[in-house]
Amino acid sequence: MVWAKIRLFFQRNWLWVAIVVGFIVAILIPVWYMSGMEESVRRYIVGINVASLPWGILQTLVFVGFLYLLQYGGGFAQLRKSKVDASQVKVRFTDVIGLTEAKREAWEMVQLIKDRAALKRVGGKILHGMLMIGPPGCGKTMLAKAIATEAGIPFLSTAGSEFVEVFVGVGASRVRKLFKQARQYARAYGACIIFIDELEVVGKQRTFMDAFGGSSESNSTLNQLLVEMDGLTDDESHIVVIGAMNAREEVLDPALMRPGRFDRTISIGRPNLQERQEIFEYYARKIHLDPAVDLARLARKAVFKTPAEIENILKEAALVAVRDRRELINYRDLSTALERIELGVAHRLTMSPREREMVAYHEAGHLIVLYLMHPTDDVFKASIVQRAGTLGVVHHIPREELHLSDRNRLLGHIKTSLGGYAAEKIRYGVTTSGVSSDFTSAMTVAHDMVWSLGMGEGGLIGDFSIIPAGQSMKGNQLSEALKEKLNMETQRILHDCMVEVDQVLRTESRILDRFAAELLRREELDYDEIVSIFLEYGKPPRPIPLSPPMTANAAPEGMQDGVASAPAL
Ligand code: ZN
Repeated sequence: MVWAKIRLFFQRNWLWVAIVVGFIVAILIPVWYMSGMEESVRRYIVGINVASLPWGILQTLVFVGFLYLLQYGGGFAQLRKSKVDASQVKVRFTDVIGLTEAKREAWEMVQLIKDRAALKRVGGKILHGMLMIGPPGCGKTMLAKAIATEAGIPFLSTAGSEFVEVFVGVGASRVRKLFKQARQYARAYGACIIFIDELEVVGKQRTFMDAFGGSSESNSTLNQLLVEMDGLTDDESHIVVIGAMNAREEVLDPALMRPGRFDRTISIGRPNLQERQEIFEYYARKIHLDPAVDLARLARKAVFKTPAEIENILKEAALVAVRDRRELINYRDLSTALERIELGVAHRLTMSPREREMVAYHEAGHLIVLYLMHPTDDVFKASIVQRAGTLGVVHHIPREELHLSDRNRLLGHIKTSLGGYAAEKIRYGVTTSGVSSDFTSAMTVAHDMVWSLGMGEGGLIGDFSIIPAGQSMKGNQLSEALKEKLNMETQRILHDCMVEVDQVLRTESRILDRFAAELLRREELDYDEIVSIFLEYGKPPRPIPLSPPMTANAAPEGMQDGVASAPAL
């Protein structure tokens, strides 16, 4: 009872208690102690203390400063990163290659920034925010810089992760600082662009139910961003916030997408064939390239590669050339570089001759089925060199950018995956554990075809995977009979594919033996070598089908046995 009262007293008056205690310790005790001393000694001690006072204060300030920096770490980093002068950014629109569609929209934006006076007279709405969405490495930052350069205004760049801090309020104060800086620039230059990369880090949906308060920091950062964006009134100098993100728009807090905030969206996609060739040509000017290199062919090979990946391929090729002490980069270097990036660096294991032969037959099976039976994909490379986690690989890419897969293409994926298993069975009568990743991808495709895409034989239509199964809240809505039927259909697809694959490989067993032997002898076969062998048996490559471009989810290229072995739908 008494203790509780005393504690309450201290809790309420701790500041006064601290001051009194400090005063006693620092002043009264020394004075009382020194009062018993001789006059001269007293003067001496007081003199020394007064003389060292400035030094003591300086030390204290330095100490406190360091504590502050430790606490609010990254104070330096933030200044370094966000301070990009307008004069340093010199990216013209012509430096942004590809992105034809996005560039047109960005150009409109430049016009809006330039004509803001006219716009204001007419009473139009001045643009405050724009969102760029697309996969990483496709040139979002470049395009934002180009907008700043063409509009002739300063460009402040930062990333969402810069605002992520442990301490509540630090992220918000950085947002405040950033906008303050932008206002200063805008007053001097008339307008300013703030570029926030990785916007999804800051802008993800706010959470309000975190019991531990773990989300309150990101909430306060986002709130501050919203406040600052709303504060961009039209009479003030013009600030445009450009946000960039890889994820889809839906992960953002809906508040960000309200009118007056990010009310424009530009989608930045992967380059198409024509654009890839332009990108290759652009970066090729910066390196010593053998003039004989056929960049159009390379562009065809690099399906779905982003500009950043293409730049990386050329740099990697330069490394290969330097290692071989050559001045010019040739086609072979580029091809090696592409494979290294695509398949990983070779990593040889010691294998028994029988195992090596089995791998060769397995890969030859994939190769032949792919070449003869896949409707859309071309073999790019076959190899029995071990690379990170795989014993061999048959790499295939679509012959053009395909954004949708029809039933035949999906069946082509399944058949290609089963080719390795079939070849092992035909040659040895038994199969190995090397088929596991093939089966995973074949099964995934077949399962999705039946369960989600209505592509089964039994006439069942709909996406059955969305129906809750098992011990869910709504109970088991999917009857056992239906599940069994769906799974039987999946198995039927796999079985039918297997029969076809088996038949083709048995008919072409001479080609199977030949490719296994070639792989054992040469380890790696390129597209050209593969085609020339097939031509010996009177099997020319299929013509490239011409189909109109479609828009939907992009599907990455497939790989048999490789890391990215699941052909996307
Ligand atoms: Zn395989």
